[in-house]
Amino acid sequence: MIATSMALIQHVCSAPLARAARPRFLAAVISSRNLSIRSSSSSSSPARASQAESHVLLGMSEQELQQVALDFGQQSFRGKQLHHLIYKRKVKEIQDFSQLPQAFRNDLEEAGWKVGRSPIHNTVTAVDGTIKLLIKLEDNRLIETVGIPVEDSKGSVRLTACVSSQVGCPLRCSFCATGKGGFSRNLKRHEIVEQVLAIEELFKHRVTNVVFMGMGEPMLNLKSVLEAHQCLNKDVQIGQRMITISTVGVPNTIRKLASHKLQSTLAVSLHAPNQKLREAIVPSAKSYPLDAIMKDCKDYFLETSRRVSFEYALLAGVNDKTEHAVELAELLHQWGRSYHVNLIPFNPIEGSDYQRPHRKAVMAFAAALESRKITVSTRQTRGLDASAACGQLRNKFQKSPLLLDSEDLQSQPDIAVAC
Ligand code: SF4
Repeated sequence: MIATSMALIQHVCSAPLARAARPRFLAAVISSRNLSIRSSSSSSSPARASQAESHVLLGMSEQELQQVALDFGQQSFRGKQLHHLIYKRKVKEIQDFSQLPQAFRNDLEEAGWKVGRSPIHNTVTAVDGTIKLLIKLEDNRLIETVGIPVEDSKGSVRLTACVSSQVGCPLRCSFCATGKGGFSRNLKRHEIVEQVLAIEELFKHRVTNVVFMGMGEPMLNLKSVLEAHQCLNKDVQIGQRMITISTVGVPNTIRKLASHKLQSTLAVSLHAPNQKLREAIVPSAKSYPLDAIMKDCKDYFLETSRRVSFEYALLAGVNDKTEHAVELAELLHQWGRSYHVNLIPFNPIEGSDYQRPHRKAVMAFAAALESRKITVSTRQTRGLDASAACGQLRNKFQKSPLLLDSEDLQSQPDIAVAC
C-alpha cells in the first residue's frame, strides 16, 4: 500500500537506503528503457480452458503448466518448457515460444490462452535510478509499479519492486494520491506477478525484494496477493523473507495472513499513536480500533516469529511532535518488544494541506523513540521528480475518475467488515 505521497517512493517503496545506485548501473538502466514492449493479445473464445483466469499462463506453477500441456495432448515436459519460457526467458507472446511445436502454439492461441503480459504505458526515471512504470492492463486501466535499485559498498545491487495490488484504492487515506484517485478493481494474480517481471526486464537485473506497497490495500485483495506471493516465491524464485506485505489495517485479515505462516514481513501503517488522531489521518481506522490492530500484530509475531514493522508518515504539526513519539513508544511497549518503526517524512502532494516536517522534528521524533528502546529507520525520498508521488502518475495519465461499475462494487467487500 502506498501510502503516501511522498512519498511514494519513500513511504513505501523506499527500501532502506544504503547508497544510491552508481552512474554505471544507472546508465545501464536508462539505456534499457529503449526496449520495445509489446502488448499482449487479447483473449477470445475459450475452448478448452474452463475458467476465464485459466486462459492466462503467467502465475501458474510448473505443475499447472504441465497439466495444460497434457490437456493439449502434449507430453508433460512441454509444461516445464512453458515454465522456463515464461519465468526465465520472460517471453510475452505464445507465438514466440520457439522451443514449442508450432501446432501446440496454435492450439493454445485458438483455445484463448495468452501469456498475460501487458504493455508499459509510460515510465519516469529519477536521477538515482528509481523508475516508476505505468502498466496498461487489458481493460485499459493503468497501474503504477516502481523499481528501486540500491547499490551497496561492494557493488552488488539490490533491486526492490514496489507492486500494486489494486487499481486505485477504496480506503482514501487523507495523505495519499492513490486514495484520492478512487478505486476500480482488484488485480488478478498474474497482474501482480507481471509487475515484477516488467521491472526485471526494464532493469535487466533480477528483482531481489518485493514490497506490496504500491497502489491499493493488499489485505482487501488477499486471495490474489497470496497467490502472487506463492508464484513470486516458487516460480520467480524470490525468497519469502525478501517479500513485505503492507497494510493500513483491515479487520480480521492480519489473523488470516498469520495462519499462512509466511516468512515474509508484515508492515502495518500506523501513522498515529492513538485512535483519535489515527481516525483523522486514516478514515478506515474507525472500523479497526488501534488496540485490536496491536493485538493482531502481537498474535502475528507469536504465530510466525516474524517481527512486525510499523510505518509512520510524519505530517508537520499533525503527528510529528515529541509527545506523539513518546505515546507511540508506550503503545508499542504495551504490546510487545520485537517492533521496528519506519519513519516517513511526508512529501507534499497536489490537493493536500499536509506539509513535510522540518528535519529537526524528524530527528527529534526518531531520538525520542530510540531513547525508549524502539528500533527506528528514517526513509529518504527516492528522487522521482514531477508526478512522482504514489498515485499521481496514474492520475496524470488517467484523469477521468475510475468508474465503479456494478461488478466491481459487488466484488469489493465493505471495508467496515472487510475480509
Ligand atoms: S489510500 Fe490506499 S493506497 Fe493510499 S495509503 Fe491508504 S491504503 Fe494505501
